[in-house]
Amino acid sequence: MPHYVVGHKIPDSDSICSAIALSYLKTTLGEETVPARLGELSPETLFILDKFGFEQPELKMSYAGESLYVVDHSERTQAPDDIDEATILGIIDHHKLGDLTTSTPLECWIRPVGCTNTIIKMMYDFHNVEIPKNIAGAMMCAILSDTVIFKSPTCTTADIKCVEALAEIAGIDDAEALGMEMFKVKSAVEGTPARDLVLRDFKDFDMNGNLVGIGQLEVIDLAIFDDIKADLEADIAKLKAEGNRHSVLLLLTDIMKEGSEMLVVSDNADLTEKAYGKATVDGKVWLDGVLSRKKQVVPPLQESFS
Ligand code: MG
Ligand code: MG
Ligand code: MG
Repeated sequence: MPHYVVGHKIPDSDSICSAIALSYLKTTLGEETVPARLGELSPETLFILDKFGFEQPELKMSYAGESLYVVDHSERTQAPDDIDEATILGIIDHHKLGDLTTSTPLECWIRPVGCTNTIIKMMYDFHNVEIPKNIAGAMMCAILSDTVIFKSPTCTTADIKCVEALAEIAGIDDAEALGMEMFKVKSAVEGTPARDLVLRDFKDFDMNGNLVGIGQLEVIDLAIFDDIKADLEADIAKLKAEGNRHSVLLLLTDIMKEGSEMLVVSDNADLTEKAYGKATVDGKVWLDGVLSRKKQVVPPLQESFS
């Protein structure tokens, strides 16, 4: 039985490219390992797979009785539902430490860098395994995506060096230009149903016993949302009403202006005032300089719940 590598629910480019890159490394090291995914892929990820000639990893939701590597998260809310019945062989991640635990020793690579693929590059180097050209290209794109082409406060020197090295292997002259091309694909929202946009990059967090859902759409110009913002606001209100979430937030991130408008539906009227020192007006608040959910949005919010 092969081992699996799987990223978080509602997979992003890092989760998918990590699964592909780590599977190749493990298989090369003699451990048959296959990439898997916990959901449908975004247009950005499909662009990357198409560009470097990869098939979509297997869609696999259930892991009972299987052995797997968890990449790009360590939170139960983002992991397979039956992960308790699986064996976690390892965790490779760059987020805050979550609440997954194991009953056996595991391999752990957790670093405060901008992307899981940066850590996987360190693993290739550690094992002295050559990275194939197409895998290098996919890894590079994942780092450009997660670091918002190096603009995110999560971006480190390691991420920048890693992109340079991977671009060289992949034979790409202008990595940042490819990054912009990718963000243009990501910015195409026209004709997509509001619910699909809300859930395109959506994560649930347990904040002191409260379920908080936070979505993010990163675009090159917020004007893209002018015609559909009312629909998005209505949809996050609907999403909250459908479930048991305390709050649903949607970050509309302008990667050129380097800030985010946050759409807010919450049981706490003063949620953003408490967390970010800025009140929500008509369900919206502009957060200047905020690009990163994991580093700038989640920690103050978590703090405000404790
Ligand atoms: Mg991710
Ligand atoms: Mg990531
Ligand atoms: Mg992201």
